[in-house]
Amino acid sequence: MSIFKDLGLSDAIVTALEALGYETPTEIQKIAIPQIISSKNDLKAFAQTGTGKTAAFSLPILEQINTSSNNTQAIILSPTRELAIQIAKNIEEFSKNQKNLHVLAVYGGADIDKQIKGLKRGAQIVVGTPGRTVDLIKRGRLVLKNIQWLVLDEADEMLNMGFKDELDKVLEATPNDKQTLLFSATFPREVEAIAKNYMSNPIEISAGTKNVGAENVSHEYYMVSDRNRYPALKRIADINPNIYSIVFCRTRRETKDIADKLIADGYNADALHGDLSQAQRDMVMQKFRNKTLQILVATDVAARGLDVTDLTHVINYKLPDQTENYTHRSGRTGRAGKKGISIALITNKEKGKLRPIERKIDKKFEFKTVPNGKEICEKQLYSLIDKIHDIDINEKEIKDYLPEIFNKLEGLDREELIKRFVSIEFNQFLSYYENSRDLNSDDSKDRDRSRSSDDSFTRFYINIGKMDDLNPARLIGFINENLEKNDVEIGQIEILKSFSFFEIDKNYSDDVLEKFKDSEFNNRNIIVEVTTKPKSRGRNRAKRNFGGGDSFRGDRDRKRGDNDRGRSERRGNRERNFSDGGERRKDSGRRRRN
Ligand code: AMP
Repeated sequence: MSIFKDLGLSDAIVTALEALGYETPTEIQKIAIPQIISSKNDLKAFAQTGTGKTAAFSLPILEQINTSSNNTQAIILSPTRELAIQIAKNIEEFSKNQKNLHVLAVYGGADIDKQIKGLKRGAQIVVGTPGRTVDLIKRGRLVLKNIQWLVLDEADEMLNMGFKDELDKVLEATPNDKQTLLFSATFPREVEAIAKNYMSNPIEISAGTKNVGAENVSHEYYMVSDRNRYPALKRIADINPNIYSIVFCRTRRETKDIADKLIADGYNADALHGDLSQAQRDMVMQKFRNKTLQILVATDVAARGLDVTDLTHVINYKLPDQTENYTHRSGRTGRAGKKGISIALITNKEKGKLRPIERKIDKKFEFKTVPNGKEICEKQLYSLIDKIHDIDINEKEIKDYLPEIFNKLEGLDREELIKRFVSIEFNQFLSYYENSRDLNSDDSKDRDRSRSSDDSFTRFYINIGKMDDLNPARLIGFINENLEKNDVEIGQIEILKSFSFFEIDKNYSDDVLEKFKDSEFNNRNIIVEVTTKPKSRGRNRAKRNFGGGDSFRGDRDRKRGDNDRGRSERRGNRERNFSDGGERRKDSGRRRRN
């Protein structure tokens, strides 16, 4: 059995790891730690969430860092503030026996002066989100000339979020002789380009193609109609009385909506999305971490950085557009040797989404039927019995009341008593599920009922495109700038050669027309017009002969402050999710733009 000491780590670190309960290194740690300690070669590591990658890159850095100097020697870039904070916290824990070791997290949406003070005091390791890191470099506050290690954590995610320019800037500000460590769950073209441009002969390592926990995750799907999605979710929660789960939604609005409904229906649930203030988000996460909350309804971005190891279920209320996001989601369960279930609620129309995911995870989804009322009541009943059986009795506190209680219950035999106690809780389930209907989808009904969610958006034509160096992130930035609002939802974006299309919450249609009227982009007068959506993408292409167009289906999740606000605190950060339009691009993902 491999132990941390064998990997070349000193006692100070090994003792700290023991205190954290790290006994054996994970796959990626076994490979990366000795590699980084023994060689200055750049490293390209394939590692997914939950593989122990944070320790894999930070332990060898801690082993080699020079604590007699306060210069910043390592910079770690991470996509979100939550993840940056988490990494810095992990490093603090790993280095608790190393004197004079300072680690600092820098991220947008927080007081920059405080972070500048931290830098002045000296931090050998800085963990930053890309925007804020660039900001601090520009201000001359973060000095990278002594950097020996640059870590790009979740590189694919950073690029998906539109941080390419920021990454370029940080990479250019670091010395050539540093060691670059790139960790990514996927290696699309953009990540490979970063590796090609900024790394020299990197060693490639992989902890296998799956999450550490992936072996322990089973994948299930339920076929429901769109309108039965929510009732099915409730039944899944009801048939799993001890559920501890993240329910993933695709948009901020949907997240709020589902959480509100669950709360109103008496579930122990709350929402986590980018509309919440940092303090609110911290509070929700804290409640979820300490299990005061059982169900967390969240968007993908908001849930990143939330480090919980023992989720029983991950529920895809709606499947993400990008297959990678499914692996990120499902990888949140089945961790730390525990079994987990990843559930997808799908309509008949969405069935086609399962196959690409199955290919990616190399596992089959198992079809499940939405439980009926009788099954749920049975499960709840036995769970209640187990609870009664296992409950700790507080003899000391209860003893004073017992004589009166016995007195009141006199005359009831054992059987009668059991029935009555159990019925207190059980009756509500029985009455709720009495005459409950079958929620499993009937294909023909399903087709009629599923409603396009596009009704809530207006589609616009804009006379700029790829020729104007427009990309989705820039277009979002431009929309944000003109609308001067940060809570307007954007739908689909299509960037074509000389013009583009975008969708905006229809309540803001007039605003768009009005505010874009006199605007300019790269010295071009802007024309924006309302347009209608073509019936099908294929027809659209053929008819108009659109060469080289990039399509993105937005998940309508634009939020503020999930990540780095970077330079844009004046205007507020605009962020939304994009995902692949499904035809040619692999690079669409969440994007944010200042
Ligand atoms: P990461 O992939 O770095 O986010 O780590 C995922 C989870 O696994 C975190 O909760 C870590 O604290 C935990 N972890 C990482 N390495 C080990 C290890 N060798 N032993 C036990 N837990 C670990």
